[in-house]
Amino acid sequence: TIAARYLKRQRGLARDALARLAPEDGARDENEPEEALEAPLSLNARRVDAVIEVLREAGAERVIDLGCGEGTLLRALLADRRFTHIAGMDVSPRALERAAKRLRLDGLAPRQRARLELFQGSLTYRDARLAGHDAACLIEVLEHVDEARLPAVEEVVFGGARPGLVVLTTPNREYNVRFEGLGAGERRHPDHRFEWSRAELATWAEGVAGRRGYGVRFAGIGDADPEVGPPTQMAIFEREAAS
Ligand code: SAH
Repeated sequence: TIAARYLKRQRGLARDALARLAPEDGARDENEPEEALEAPLSLNARRVDAVIEVLREAGAERVIDLGCGEGTLLRALLADRRFTHIAGMDVSPRALERAAKRLRLDGLAPRQRARLELFQGSLTYRDARLAGHDAACLIEVLEHVDEARLPAVEEVVFGGARPGLVVLTTPNREYNVRFEGLGAGERRHPDHRFEWSRAELATWAEGVAGRRGYGVRFAGIGDADPEVGPPTQMAIFEREAAS
């Protein structure tokens, strides 16, 4: 009503405005632009493999995927029996619905179904459901949060949930110059609030680790370019024994 009245003499404009407000019809994937850009590098699959490898090495059994999206990592976790408890959290109910569909939650055998829990929540609000896991994953999520909210994310993940292991991936901004489809200074996805260089991730992550009693190391995902490094960067935080 507001759009139609405001733009009353110009139906076409009102229609455009409404189309932008209306929820997407499911045919379009929110991550489409970024996926199209990264698809030739198979980054989605390589991220999942790299994260699972870190989780296996650490012997993690109870894993929570924070900002699980449509469940790409959850699916890989479910396929591996060593992960006994798997939780997926996302702020978007629609992403969770899609995850449930993609994972065929309703069709899972009861024992498989019991391993998996999906729930809505936010990385910026303390939440008791986030505690009690060996590991938390934040895969391509941090860059969707306003930089001003990062202290809240730090408190929720490293103060409240406080798992032994936190695995985080985020774009390496330096690599953007290697994407032909990306203009200078453009980000990989319109919803990204920032994209960090390797030095910027290190500064943030080392600050968090120091304040919260974690050690942190870094790794690249995807073929590293000699000048600008890998397309995706990963920070691996391990809680120190005494903390
Ligand atoms: N980890 C998934 C999805 C990445 S897309 C994957 O790798 O495929 C980023 C996701 O973060 C989206 O699903 C979005 O809904 C979610 N997200 C953004 N802000 C969030 C917040 N504050 N708390 C929890 N999830 C959030």
